[in-house]
Amino acid sequence: MDMRGDLYVISAPSGTGKTTLCRMLLKQMDRVVFSVSHTTRPPRPGEVDGVDYHFVTKEVFLSMIKQGAFLEWAEVHGHFYGTSKEGVLKQLAEGLDVLLDIDVQGARQVKKSFPEAIMIFILPPTFQELERRLRSRGTEDEASLKVRIGNAKKEVLAAPEYDYILINDVLEEALDNFKSIIKANRHKKERMVALPQVKKILIEAEKAAEER
Ligand code: ADP
Ligand code: 5GP
Repeated sequence: MDMRGDLYVISAPSGTGKTTLCRMLLKQMDRVVFSVSHTTRPPRPGEVDGVDYHFVTKEVFLSMIKQGAFLEWAEVHGHFYGTSKEGVLKQLAEGLDVLLDIDVQGARQVKKSFPEAIMIFILPPTFQELERRLRSRGTEDEASLKVRIGNAKKEVLAAPEYDYILINDVLEEALDNFKSIIKANRHKKERMVALPQVKKILIEAEKAAEER
C-alpha cells in the first residue's frame, strides 16, 4: 500500500483568482505543493522564473513535447503551457498533494491519463466582476483582455465536467471551501488505511477477531 498524495486539477477563467487562492492555500496547508508549469508566455512584472513558471522559448517547448516530457500541454491565449511529468510523479510519490493550475484542454488530458485526479473548477461570481478583476490586475493590454474575457465564456461551460465547483466571491470563504475539499480527500479510506497508525489498529483488531 502506498502513501501517494492526491493530484488536483484546478481550472478557472483567467482573472477568477485561481493563482491568489492557490498561493494562500499553499501558505496555510502543509504537504501541498504547486506544480510549476513550463510556458512560452513572457513573464509578467514580479513573476520569477522557476517559481511562477519555467519560462522557455518555443524551441525548447517543442523539443520537450517531442521527448514526451509533458503530462499534458496546451496552447492557451496564444502561448504554450505544459506540465512536466517527472516533477509531478516524484511529488505524488513523496505523499504530497500536488496542485495543477491548468486550462480546460489540459485538464481533460490529465483526466484521461490519470483518472484518479481530483478536478476543481473555480467560477467568478459574475462575468462583470471577472472583467473588473482582470482590469484591476493591470497585467493585460486591451487586446489580451478581450481574448481572455471571450475565452472565459467558453471555458465555464466545462465546469460540470469537474468533481467540485468553487465560487470565488468572498476570498476567505472560497479559500475555506478549497481547504475543506483537500481535507475531505485526505480522509478517504484509500489514503487512511495506508497510515501506520490506522494499519496498527486494524492489525490489532484482526488479531482479536482471530482469537475469538
Ligand atoms: P487567475 O490566476 O485566476 O488569473 P488572479 O489570482 O491573478 O487570477 O486574480 C485576478 C485579480 O483578482 C487579482 O488582482 C486578485 O488580487 C483579484 N482577486 C482574486 N480573488 C478575489 C476575490 N475573491 N475578490 C476580489 N478580488 C480578487
Ligand atoms: P496565465 O497566462 O494567466 O498565467 O495562464 C493562462 C492559462 O493557462 C490559465 O488558464 C492557466 O490555468 C493555464 N495554464 C497554466 N499552466 C498550464 C499548464 O501547464 N498546462 C495547461 N494546459 N494550462 C496551463
